[in-house]
Amino acid sequence: MSSETMRAVQVAEAGGPFEVVDRPIPELGRKEVRVKVEACGVCHSDSYTKEGSWPSIEYPRVPGHEIAGRIDVVGDDVDTWSEGQRVGVGWHGDHCFSCEPCRRGEFIDCEHEKVTGIDIDGGYAEYVTVLEHALARIPTSLNAVDAAPLLCAGVSTFNALRKSNAGPGDVAAVQGLGGLGHLGVQYAAAAGLETVAISRGTEKRDLAYEFGADHYIDSTVSDPAEELMRLGGAKVLLATAPSSEAIESIVPGLAVQGQLLTLGVPDDAIEVSILDLIENQRSLRGHSSGTARESQDTLEFSSLRDITPMIETFSLEEAAAAYERMMNNDAQFRAVLVP
Ligand SMILES: [Zn+2]
Ligand SMILES: [Zn+2]
Repeated sequence: MSSETMRAVQVAEAGGPFEVVDRPIPELGRKEVRVKVEACGVCHSDSYTKEGSWPSIEYPRVPGHEIAGRIDVVGDDVDTWSEGQRVGVGWHGDHCFSCEPCRRGEFIDCEHEKVTGIDIDGGYAEYVTVLEHALARIPTSLNAVDAAPLLCAGVSTFNALRKSNAGPGDVAAVQGLGGLGHLGVQYAAAAGLETVAISRGTEKRDLAYEFGADHYIDSTVSDPAEELMRLGGAKVLLATAPSSEAIESIVPGLAVQGQLLTLGVPDDAIEVSILDLIENQRSLRGHSSGTARESQDTLEFSSLRDITPMIETFSLEEAAAAYERMMNNDAQFRAVLVP
C-alpha cells in the first residue's frame, strides 16, 4: 500500500474533542474492501466513542456507523463484490461465524461482534475498510446522503417493525419523532399499519401526517397510553426517545400481546409494573439494528416505497457541530457528514 493520507475525524481519548486529522489511508485485509465514503450519518450511539462509555474502546478511534459510499479497492480474497459498487455499512461490522449465537445464525448477537466506529474505525473519514460480510448494496435510486441514515436509524426501525407480531391493519405506535422516529412512522405507514405518532407539543404534528401517520398524540396534553387504548391498543410500539419515564408510562397502551420494542437507550433503568405486563400478555423487548443483509432489505424497501430520511448535511470539519445538534435534538432529523 502507498503511504497516502486521508482526512478523518477522530477521538483521541474518552471524553476528548473531535479532531480533524490527516491519517494514513487504512490498509486492506484480504477479506475486506476499501470504501470511498460519500456520506456518514451521525447517530446518538456515536456518543459511546466520544465519551468512552462502551467497554474497551481503543483510541484514537474514528466514529461513524451509518456509512454510504463506493468500493474503491477489493481485497484479494473477496469474490462477491467489485470495484465501483455502491455499498453501505452499519453498526454491525463483524461476526465470528463460530460462537453459539453465530452457529444459530444470530450474527447480530455474536459474542465477538465488532461494532463499526467503536471496535473498528468508522465513517467519519474519506475512506474506511469493511469486511465483505458487513456490506449492504445500495439501490441506484437512493443517493448516498439519504442512504447513510438508513444503515442504522432505518434498519433499526424497519427491522423492529417487521420482526414484531404486528401485521397490516394493526395499530403501530412510534414514540418520539426524531432521527429514528420519523423513519419509523414512514415504515409503519408503508407497511399498512394504522400508524400513531407520539411526540411532545404540536410542532411536529403536520410533519407526522406528511410521513404517513394516521393519528398524532401530543403527550403534553393527553396520556398516550389512554389515547392508544381508545384505538384498541398498540400491537407494536417503537420507543425511540431515550426517556425511561416515557417508556414506563406507555406500557398500559399496548394491545393484547402488544410488544414494546425499545430502540432508544435511556441512561437510567426503567421500572415497569409486572401487572401491566401480565394484563394483555404484553411484552417488552430490546432490539438491535440488523445485519448487513437486513440493512440491504431496508435500503431496498425504502427505494421501493420512496422512503428517505430528512437530513442536514455537514462537512468533516463540522463534525463537532453536527454531533452537538444531534445530541441536543436540534437536527431535523438526521445529521449527515459529507467528506
Ligand atoms: Zn446508530
Ligand atoms: Zn460469533
